[in-house]
Amino acid sequence: MSATIIDGKAVAARVRAEVAEQVAEFTAQTGRAPGLATLLVGDDPASHTYVAGKQRAAREVGIEPFDRRLPADASFDAVAEELGRLGEDPAVSGILLQLPVPDHLDGTALTGMGPPEKDVDGLTAVNTGLLALGRGGLRPCTPVGVIDLLADTRVQLEGAEAVVVGRSNLFGKPMAQLLLGANATVTTCHSRTRDLAAVCARADVLIAAIGRPRMIGAEHVKPGAVVIDVGMNRISPEEAGNKSGLVGDVDFAAVAEIASAITPVPGGVGPMTVAELLRNTLQAARYQANVNAWLSAAELGRT
Ligand code: NAP
Repeated sequence: MSATIIDGKAVAARVRAEVAEQVAEFTAQTGRAPGLATLLVGDDPASHTYVAGKQRAAREVGIEPFDRRLPADASFDAVAEELGRLGEDPAVSGILLQLPVPDHLDGTALTGMGPPEKDVDGLTAVNTGLLALGRGGLRPCTPVGVIDLLADTRVQLEGAEAVVVGRSNLFGKPMAQLLLGANATVTTCHSRTRDLAAVCARADVLIAAIGRPRMIGAEHVKPGAVVIDVGMNRISPEEAGNKSGLVGDVDFAAVAEIASAITPVPGGVGPMTVAELLRNTLQAARYQANVNAWLSAAELGRT
């Protein structure tokens, strides 16, 4: 193997330590800790694990967690009402609706419902629009986490060819916007892209967010490229070769032979998502307490 392994756990630990310090300052100044509410609808075991992890991580940095749950058959209105209550609650600085929601609910509509200043997932129309405009706002955690990992690895984005495979609202689209903001030349690929391998092989920085185990192989990667694997696919622990049974969208063993740097799964992008969620919660709390008006009312469309 020739590639450097990008240690997401270590970078995330540094972000969390920094957030913990700033949360302590915020709490001392305002007399109230930032609050993070998670709303989980249904019984998906993976979602339960993710929510428990986020609650624990919040507590560890001094953010007060609020754990809200609704049954799998909860109606759209019931979920919307709970989001409304959290939106009104002054103890709650950030609201996270755990995705995916059960099939009968419209997750996109629900994620767009809360107040933008509590939208720690950065998925409301206001925050999505602010990102597209290159203005302030709360940004989606996973793509911001990728930018921080690239910065920590000292990857030069200015002028670089960056290819993102995947165009979801959750990841692919905001990732492309952030890369553009960092002056990379950005190509976004998806299931209708012709000759995916040839397009990917142009990349100095290749980012895969597809949801297909080990789909990106050596033929997709230019020698010396930096490869970021966002995929989290659950297969059997035997097939995955690890206890968690998690593998990414990149064939790690093959690609690590030719890339200059690569993120592992688990232990790459995943820990960054939680760290950025904590950072967003603090930012949201600062905004609401007006301690640090990082986002003006005008930017939230409230003029
Ligand atoms: P998604 O909404 O299902 O989007 C997948 C994207 O991949 C779509 O744009 C799709 O194209 C594209 N795609 C599917 N098959 C393809 C193919 N054969 N060739 C090229 N493109 C193809 O998924 P997502 O929410 O973005 O998540 C993607 C992966 O990242 C999942 O494994 C997810 O678990 C993981 N993820 C991890 C984190 C984390 O914290 N580490 C956070 C978010 C997501 P079309 O648009 O044409 O259908």
